[in-house]
Amino acid sequence: MLGLLLARAGVDVSVLEKHADFLRDFRGDTIHPSTLEVMHELGLLDDLLKLPHQKVSQLNGYFGELALTIADFSHLPVRCPYIAFMPQWDFLNFLTKHASLYPTFKLRMQAEVTGLMEEAGQVVGLLATTPEGPLEVRASLVVGADGRHSIVRTQAGLRVDEIGAPMDVLWFGLSRRPADPEASMGRFDIGRIFITLNRGDYWQCGFVIPKGSVEQLREKGLPAFRASVAQLAPFAADRVGELQDWNAIKLLTVKVDRLTQWYRSGLLCIGDAAHAMSPVGGVGINLAIQDAVAAANLLAVPLRDGQVTTEDLCRVQQRRTFPTRLTQRMQLFMQNQVIRRVLNSTGELTPPLAIKLLARFPFLRRIPARLIGMGVRPEHVRA
Ligand SMILES: Cc1cc2nc3c(=O)[nH]c(=O)nc-3n(C[C@H](O)[C@H](O)[C@H](O)COP(=O)(O)OP(=O)(O)OC[C@H]3O[C@@H](n4cnc5c(N)ncnc54)[C@H](O)[C@@H]3O)c2cc1C
Repeated sequence: MLGLLLARAGVDVSVLEKHADFLRDFRGDTIHPSTLEVMHELGLLDDLLKLPHQKVSQLNGYFGELALTIADFSHLPVRCPYIAFMPQWDFLNFLTKHASLYPTFKLRMQAEVTGLMEEAGQVVGLLATTPEGPLEVRASLVVGADGRHSIVRTQAGLRVDEIGAPMDVLWFGLSRRPADPEASMGRFDIGRIFITLNRGDYWQCGFVIPKGSVEQLREKGLPAFRASVAQLAPFAADRVGELQDWNAIKLLTVKVDRLTQWYRSGLLCIGDAAHAMSPVGGVGINLAIQDAVAAANLLAVPLRDGQVTTEDLCRVQQRRTFPTRLTQRMQLFMQNQVIRRVLNSTGELTPPLAIKLLARFPFLRRIPARLIGMGVRPEHVRA
């Protein structure tokens, strides 16, 4: 997104992606109302919505046997008052296709960043490996948007505050049949949380487990795991045999952290590289995109003029720190008050007060809708 915005503003940009394609499945599939608003501001919304997607106006779930709506987006004052569920590789291919229309944009796939080039304490470029051999890229600014295991932030020596998360996620697919439900769903049950995301011909499933407990689960054996999945998603009980071995089930480690300083002279981190987000609320993609919009708004002109300073970079952090801190604080609240309690529960599951209130008073569902759908301090394209 930042590559597209800067190229569109006349800045020469090279985007390096270590993989040969964008077909990763670990990132979630949510395009939020605020991102759809950004796409409208770019004049790309109608084209984007021609790609296959599901419109989700409400987030529904089960808490024990209590069926409830957690968020209702239909009242948001935006063009698209819903979350569009679209595989993220379709979204990224769409962005890069449009960015490639600008002569200022270059995308280099299979280019894995391995280090930074520094001169007199300033970052002046980066080193990468490609199938054709090593690559050196000189740049007036290096932006680390390389996710929660960012090599850029490690190499830059930026200090990380670990905030922590009580869970990890087992991530796997199960085929989807025409008679299955349409809606993506979250189910909270005794000691377990299970998420199903509708990806058209298959379900992307997330089985949330207490952090560090994967070995215990494996020791109990695959048949026991399959039985749990069948219990949590009865409509898919006839397909759990598709999980033939543990290789079909990926462990995604959840991290929540934040850099104390997101920049150095010649370098800036944004998205998960600056602040790894928990999957709670499915807001990490939105926050990463909002960082990109804010960074483009603040940096396009100095970059074009070749005069980007650390003060400019500091302004990006100042602009985005408040939304990041507040969102992470809310994620921590949910992790500690809901997720930890559910995962540790052994007896009857009683919904926490916040859940009971949402079930009782429908207008309260507008609050999570606003926080999830728009986030704090939504950004608008100005560059
Ligand atoms: C299990 C799980 C489920 C989630 N579900 C959701 C959800 O439904 N909705 C939501 O909004 N958020 C979700 N999140 C959070 C979300 O995935 C992140 O917050 C978001 O992807 C951050 O975007 P990003 O662009 O900063 O990083 P990423 O999406 O991680 O992208 C980083 C990119 O950099 C590339 N890269 C990495 N290292 C290098 C390198 N050395 N050289 C070149 N390229 C490199 C990667 O291949 C990748 O393409 C989830 C997180 C987890 C763990």
